Amino acid sequence: MTGFHIKIRGIVQGVGFRPFIHRQVKAYEIKGWIRNTSFGAELKVEGETDNVSAFIRDLRIRKPPLAVIEKIHADEYEPCGFSDFEIIPSFAGEEADTLISPDICTCDDCLKELSDPSDRRYRYPFINCTNCGPRFTIIKNVPYDRKSTTMAPFVMCPACENEYTDIEDRRYHAQPDCCPACGPRLYYRNADGSCIYDEPAGAALEALRKGKIIAVKGLGGFHLACRADTPAFSHILRERKKRDRRPFALMCADTVAVRKICLLSEEEEQLLSSPARPIVLLRKREKASFSHISENDRIGIMLPYTPVHFLLFSEEIKTLVMTSANLSDRPVIYKNEEALTELSGICDGFLMHDREIEVRCDDSVMWPEGGGYFMRRSRGYAPYPVTLESPVPMMLACGAEQKATFSLSKKEHVFPSQHIGDLKNIESYENFRQQIVHFEKLFSIKPEVIACDLHPDYLSSVYAEERSAAEGIPLVRVQHHHAHMVSCMTDNDLTDPVIGIIWDGTGLGEDGTVWGGEFLAGDAAGYERHGSIRPVKLPGGDKAIKEIWRVGLSLLEDAFAQDGDEGICEAVRNRITEDAAVPETGAGTVRKMLAADVNCPPSSGMGRLFDGVSAILGICRSADYEGEGAILLEAAAGEGCMTEYEAGFYEDENGVRRFDWRPMIRGLASDILADIPVSLCAAKFMNTLTAVAADQCIYIRRKTGLDAVVLSGGTFQNMYLLKAVTEALRAEGLTVYHHHRVSTNDEGISLGQLMIAGRRMREKR
Ligand code: ZN
Ligand code: ZN
Ligand code: FE
Repeated sequence: MTGFHIKIRGIVQGVGFRPFIHRQVKAYEIKGWIRNTSFGAELKVEGETDNVSAFIRDLRIRKPPLAVIEKIHADEYEPCGFSDFEIIPSFAGEEADTLISPDICTCDDCLKELSDPSDRRYRYPFINCTNCGPRFTIIKNVPYDRKSTTMAPFVMCPACENEYTDIEDRRYHAQPDCCPACGPRLYYRNADGSCIYDEPAGAALEALRKGKIIAVKGLGGFHLACRADTPAFSHILRERKKRDRRPFALMCADTVAVRKICLLSEEEEQLLSSPARPIVLLRKREKASFSHISENDRIGIMLPYTPVHFLLFSEEIKTLVMTSANLSDRPVIYKNEEALTELSGICDGFLMHDREIEVRCDDSVMWPEGGGYFMRRSRGYAPYPVTLESPVPMMLACGAEQKATFSLSKKEHVFPSQHIGDLKNIESYENFRQQIVHFEKLFSIKPEVIACDLHPDYLSSVYAEERSAAEGIPLVRVQHHHAHMVSCMTDNDLTDPVIGIIWDGTGLGEDGTVWGGEFLAGDAAGYERHGSIRPVKLPGGDKAIKEIWRVGLSLLEDAFAQDGDEGICEAVRNRITEDAAVPETGAGTVRKMLAADVNCPPSSGMGRLFDGVSAILGICRSADYEGEGAILLEAAAGEGCMTEYEAGFYEDENGVRRFDWRPMIRGLASDILADIPVSLCAAKFMNTLTAVAADQCIYIRRKTGLDAVVLSGGTFQNMYLLKAVTEALRAEGLTVYHHHRVSTNDEGISLGQLMIAGRRMREKR
């Protein structure tokens, strides 16, 4: 006989963990008790030595689907002879410090009931259990029970109540438990305002079949849906939504339907079918197919994740366009009234219901590589924390601006928020402020310090400043790329100094100029800027973000100003200026601006180099959305190209070693005139950047002795570059790390800011 005192850290509350264990122990003939604690759960187990060790071994594998076990700590003790196994109350007065589960897709058991005509929840669109259903998006307050969710108005019927109180039942303590007799109601609302309550999903399906566009209320907001198999229908949606070329996401009934459109490896299938159900960027079977959905070689696809979604497919309809219901760059619509007023001009019907969404939460988006690499971390992942190796004070970090998130910390946990969007939009900013309050309440956090970006005009910085002043909380300003670097370090549990390749679009540097092609070295305490790229002049400033032909002309003029064949320059320049996307008079003005160096702010952002090259190559000359030039360039690049352009380097007046891209642009121009295929030129361009990355890291390693490299910043959303740079650096004997728990783009910034602020606080003490 033996006894073990076990402490479990992770998401083990509100996920049916204690009853699950209660059911498990019988098989192992174990006595003792289990209770919730501030860090998770605590158990005392006694029994035959073999049984107890088997039980502990199996804890990690045999657990309720929603439970996340981060750490198990087990101490042996002399058994005291329990006669039973009990669930005992939590320590009185102990501060509840529980994690909140993200929203989880409908489980197989619930799906079985959903399609079983003899079940009382047959085709009931709100079926859920302890193992699945809404969580984060319905929780208003803690402790997590039905009263503090948007399920509060629905009073459980006796049948549901029985399940809820029966420890042997799958719905024991499932807070959103409900049925057709007591739960929320789905209805289909026609454009004329008439509502169908009887088989509303059937009515929606019929509308979709006919090619209509309908709004569908999901977990964290509304989607706009239409058939994906007929380009004409999605064209109407594109027109009404005023969304020109931005790709749509698709929802497929099952993996069979996915395979008809995209290649799907086992690893990709696993991610696609995981309980978080993210949108996964999958490679099309044929690059030219489904161009009405996405112009590039990938399509974002997800599987159904709520019972409502499962009811939207039929023998005929296996694939739907499923795009967030928002207008221009506003946040996704999540309230019924708002949907009715804002979407009436866009959709022909509404599939909606009377359960409120408390928290707006977009679909998450991931590259399938390496088991999942975030483009957007949101539904299914938020508010799951990043667990640290050692505790930190309570802090708030306010992130960047365009891909806004915030992070709050408490002990060993950092809670990065869901994706919030562009704060320049007033509703997103409002949501940002509200969500900070909401998270602070849910996790009972009172920040002792606030961190923000160095950029004073970012609305996240404005918020941080106001709050710091109003509440007398110290404010720490963090340089953008330093935050990216420390974010990636934290993501990989690194604390010792590293080299950081931080490539992104824009971020304010310490010297007041725009940075973004950075080679840094340091840690949370500080950094040194060892390398960057030759600054790119942006004629017209912000105008050059979308009118990327301006950047193309800028690179070209600079590259040929002192060197190279003016004839080549002119021929390539003409190709740009003769493009229909480039206004005739505009091109003339831009050349004059460049020549006189007027209104041409310099930027060393890697994103600008991508834009300019994309424009020179004719891949994209006017971007419809931020980053389009870079995305299409990556999609255009052919595989297997091993060559590159010449790269120059020079040291600037501050000792920063800069990549001189002028020889590369001259090489590119010659290739264009020699009719070298665009696919090859695009690949050669990215291979050049790869060689630059390796060259700079070797240079920094020689200077500093560091040999670990973190890759961060929006440019590393480019899979070609991420893979190529990783391989090239590994070949040089460097250890390479990239993001896996948070996004590499500006969504990841708040995590880095927070860790830097924590370090500065520690030093002050
Ligand atoms: Zn379920
Ligand atoms: Zn009921
Ligand atoms: Fe950035």
